[in-house]
Amino acid sequence: MRIIVIGAVAAGTSAATKARRNNDNAEIVIYEKDKDISYSGCGLPYYIGGEISDVGELTPRDSAFFKKKYNIDIFTGHEVLKIHSDKKEVTVKNLLTNEIFNDSYDELVIGTGAVPFVPTVEGIDKSHVFFLRNVQSARNIRNFITTNKPKKAIIAGTGFIGFEMLENLMDDGISVTVVEKQNQITPNLDEDMAAYLESQLIKKNITIIKDNSIVKIDEDSATLEDGTIVESEMIIMATGVRPNVALAKEAGVEIGVTGAIKVDKKMKTNVDHIYACGDCIETYSQITGKSVYRPLGSTANKTGRIAGDVLTGGTLEYRGNLGTGIFKLFNMAIANTGLSEREAIKEGYDVLVCHNIKPDKAAYFNGTEMVIKAIADKKSERILGVQIVGYEGVDKRIDVFATLITYGAKVDELFHLDLAYAPPFSTTKDPVHYTGMILD
Ligand code: FAD
Repeated sequence: MRIIVIGAVAAGTSAATKARRNNDNAEIVIYEKDKDISYSGCGLPYYIGGEISDVGELTPRDSAFFKKKYNIDIFTGHEVLKIHSDKKEVTVKNLLTNEIFNDSYDELVIGTGAVPFVPTVEGIDKSHVFFLRNVQSARNIRNFITTNKPKKAIIAGTGFIGFEMLENLMDDGISVTVVEKQNQITPNLDEDMAAYLESQLIKKNITIIKDNSIVKIDEDSATLEDGTIVESEMIIMATGVRPNVALAKEAGVEIGVTGAIKVDKKMKTNVDHIYACGDCIETYSQITGKSVYRPLGSTANKTGRIAGDVLTGGTLEYRGNLGTGIFKLFNMAIANTGLSEREAIKEGYDVLVCHNIKPDKAAYFNGTEMVIKAIADKKSERILGVQIVGYEGVDKRIDVFATLITYGAKVDELFHLDLAYAPPFSTTKDPVHYTGMILD
């Protein structure tokens, strides 16, 4: 069996290594157009901020590692130009030599990921405007900062990448203005939780401009929609990503309602012997069953593993997601899982909502305030979603809530959970218990 994988970051390498674990004899080849492989995109902001001094720490595995440990051949600098599903072949271009050749597969995995969304803005192609997506883009940003020593920057977009960059540019001594197109920050949070987060950021003297967007970029400033001119020597566009589906689409692979590749629970596309995984596919919500686009490393690894398992005869199936996510901003942690109140109402739920403000641990262990918003369905009493903004212990609570939602917990079950307690870690009744007590 010859397996070809396109893309060698999270999904592609997960698919290939799982296939190898299941099958000792298959020939496994990955084509990757970039030079970096199997890296932690999630760590890139911290390289830019200097917390990680060597970008090599984020790319610990090279092609030689995959060859030695898994007998997988990874060809970097090789772009797949076309998929011929009728002949089960791909056309590949060696970007170094310009050689073009065909290679044949028995099973093909598309792990082409996502690309940054580039809004139409005058001057967006200037050399001080950056999109952070891969290791090379992080190197470019780091080099620009080291060489030009900018004092002022704009970050457009307040998703997790925008805010992780805010912290890291400030660590580089750069004064940052944040510009958000919507009338609230952090689109994954409900308006009230976003307002609370914003109030915490304002206390740290961060300038946030909402309901506005960049329309023109000059060398040392940007003009916003309402005419405001913001001085900036560098701009980070953190305006989201789009699934990279052109290659798949051209090969007749079906694209779903979200614009990403449609796959079944086994990561099979509509075309025989073609699988897809990672940021190029749409998945589905565990709660509503509806298609969603959640380009996250956690999901990319999981869906990659499932593709690699199934194409080598395994039985793994995807079970949906809750869009669970977390990010760090200074000493804060912001997390969400499941439906927001806004989404739950849109889905037709009659919602029960609670806001629960509690310390994460005993006061004599410097417990800090954590704000939990929980959303439940009035009729079934099932928990639908949770958002948390806090300092310590947010990661632990959000994962407890994600687990509860996964297993369909009802509000009255929260109080009865036998959670671990000792003063350095929690309070006698944990914030999770209180959430259930308030909702019930
Ligand atoms: P990608 O990482 O996009 O990789 C796809 C690869 O395919 C690319 O290298 C591309 O060059 C290659 N490719 C595309 N087309 C071709 C072709 N035709 N031929 C050959 N090669 C091709 N996720 C989290 O869960 N938590 C986080 O904290 C988090 N933080 C992040 C921070 C940043 C700054 C960024 C950028 C992302 C972050 N993510 C996070 C998201 C996570 O990195 C992605 O979900 C993950 O990288 C997706 O992996 P992937 O393999 O599906 O796609």
